[in-house]
Amino acid sequence: MPRRNKLLFGIIFFLLLIPSAYARDLIVSFIDVGQGDSILVEAPDGKNILIDGGGVPAYRKLSYRIGAQIVDPFLQKKKIKKLDIVILTHGHTDHMDGLLDILAAYPVGEFIDTLEGGGKVTDDEYIKILETVKARNIKYRLASVGDILDFGPSLQVRVLNPQKKRFNNPNDNSMVIKITYNKVSFLLTADIGQAAERKILSAQKDMEQSTILKVAHHGSRNSSCASFLNEVKPEVAVISCGRNNSFGHPHPETLKRLKRAGIPYLITAKKGTLTVSTDGQTYHVQTEY
Ligand SMILES: [Zn+2]
Repeated sequence: MPRRNKLLFGIIFFLLLIPSAYARDLIVSFIDVGQGDSILVEAPDGKNILIDGGGVPAYRKLSYRIGAQIVDPFLQKKKIKKLDIVILTHGHTDHMDGLLDILAAYPVGEFIDTLEGGGKVTDDEYIKILETVKARNIKYRLASVGDILDFGPSLQVRVLNPQKKRFNNPNDNSMVIKITYNKVSFLLTADIGQAAERKILSAQKDMEQSTILKVAHHGSRNSSCASFLNEVKPEVAVISCGRNNSFGHPHPETLKRLKRAGIPYLITAKKGTLTVSTDGQTYHVQTEY
């Protein structure tokens, strides 16, 4: 190839690379798993992270499995073949059970857990999850406040909870993650209650605003205190819960607090899976229904 053509070829190749390397979106999907949480993070640099897997308690004897019949098909539709990171925010069935099917079906790079010391989780599902992680040689890591997670170079990911000193309520020990992509950020609060919210606020004086808030504990009245909502000041709040769930989530008191703080909210029970795409400057929210 003549030198000039080679140079031209090189320039064209470089220009073709630019959009694929720099213009990719961060896509966060709040999967409609009924009463529970399951969040897929597709990072701009190509990593796929699954935070919780939904699930129902065994006593409900459902004829289908959330992991195999909801989360797995969702990942398949996205053509996801492997998960770089799987995170369990805390050891409750509505977050944990679905992960069993996923850990068994997908190659997973790393499993991040929070249950050191005070966890004392003895549920069969949790034990099976740890056995699966071990049997499949998945890297295992514990995370707590102050840790930084690696979702790829474009994202800043900080762990704001659990605290080093345990709360008595296991919900308050669940993992809170803040993902920042330039000007757009996501605060994922798992099932923390007001005690953990207050601790996070006091530890992070001048809590910065987050663009999107995953409302804690499916909209329970024991979470989302007014001061937390006013500090986080999200532009959109997402509530992940099941239709006609037995807990009455989201509680009217929480919805009232969100309204009073001027925060618009979307509920998976009404809108199905909620997907937020962002290039780090602006964002777009898509609902299933
Ligand atoms: Zn929950």
